[in-house]
Amino acid sequence: MNSKSILFHFLTEMLPKSRNQLENKILPYIMLKDAISSSRELVERILPKNTTPSLRVGLREIESVLEQNIVKAEENLPIVGYHFSLPAEYLFCFECVPICIESLSFILAALLLDGVEKYYDIMLNWGHPFHTCSSQRATLGFSLDDLIKFDAIITPTAPCDNTCASYPFFLYKKKIPLVIMDLPYTHSEKSYEFFASQLKNGLKKLGKILGQEPDFDRMKKHIEIENRVSQIKLEIFDLIRAIPSPIDNLYNAISAATTILLSGTRENITFYSKIKNMAKKRYVNGDHYGKEETIRSIWPYMLTFFDISLCEWLDRELGLSILFDIFNYSFSDPIDTENGLDNMFFDMAKKTMNFPMTKQSTELYYPFIEDCVKMAKDYSADCFIYTSSIACKQFGSVPKLLREALREEVGIPMLLIELDVGDARVTSIDAIKNKISMFTQTLL
Ligand code: SF4
Repeated sequence: MNSKSILFHFLTEMLPKSRNQLENKILPYIMLKDAISSSRELVERILPKNTTPSLRVGLREIESVLEQNIVKAEENLPIVGYHFSLPAEYLFCFECVPICIESLSFILAALLLDGVEKYYDIMLNWGHPFHTCSSQRATLGFSLDDLIKFDAIITPTAPCDNTCASYPFFLYKKKIPLVIMDLPYTHSEKSYEFFASQLKNGLKKLGKILGQEPDFDRMKKHIEIENRVSQIKLEIFDLIRAIPSPIDNLYNAISAATTILLSGTRENITFYSKIKNMAKKRYVNGDHYGKEETIRSIWPYMLTFFDISLCEWLDRELGLSILFDIFNYSFSDPIDTENGLDNMFFDMAKKTMNFPMTKQSTELYYPFIEDCVKMAKDYSADCFIYTSSIACKQFGSVPKLLREALREEVGIPMLLIELDVGDARVTSIDAIKNKISMFTQTLL
């Protein structure tokens, strides 16, 4: 029995009976929480103590926040779906259960026995195009099958056309109130001012749908928590300059999940503080997790969410470090919470427009290529590994230009892997491992 089979057994046998009444409303979210709990138990009880350190820390904190949200859902608070590109701490201005649409698709893809392929196919059969983003497609399928019932959904028009084209499904097919906030492409003072008013109006609109007045004082406290989290993340990012890298590869996958699911919570501070302490200890001792670090890689786009064990395999089998992926190298200044609502919303707009994936998708590719070249130098990268998905059309032309820039300006190569990060059937994990293994042989 492999780890996914054990997990499937846990899920089917152990779904708590007291949650039955909620199953019709948020079944995939309950499954997500149970999948996280089962994975934590597997990691803590079965795997040797010195393995998967970031996973151990992260699963516990994620489990705690998901459990709190399920309790809120049991108290009949409204279920609010949000796109991951909206920093979730903003939703603390409401008494609600915030559920990230994309996290259901991708984290369940990582943890369930057959991923969420059934729901990708349900949507394809319904007529949703095959080249749409799998991060939304499974949740669209859950919604089509009435497994999840959102009371409202809120999203910026970011980071891509896929998002803009997929979300109206919820409004037109499922009649779920949908709040869309228009996010500009250009990054300028004027754009931030415009998007600040979109954010404020969007939250007010959502409040009308929920029958609640947004409590911006409460939101402020959660924004301040995230200001602290950003500071800790920056310190971790700085430690990654060290050779060997003091983080384990799985940190990147777990950090992507906590960025989306734990924003604005104390659990997020706990997670990053523990990771920082762990990384600092390794840095001081010159330690590295897994096999000796032989290759340092930057993944400017995404990891393979359908099988995150690849991260561990790269650490242990190849000694290849993933220094960071797209969810772990975009930062913004702390949000000013002291000088009135207008300043706060301006900074909130700036943060949203510089959020991972939104920043890269809206600035188009010149700043992205410049950032990559700079990061390659600053972090002593030996190579880039670029995962290219048919869904991310705005990035279809970038790999060739990036490869040339890295070769000419840094003298390092880039491996391009075409895949769907949420669907194991497009490029299998074995094919991905083979590609990376062969690529690394050209580097050593
Ligand atoms: S940018 Fe790509 S991965 Fe991100 S939401 Fe859009 S299609 Fe999906």
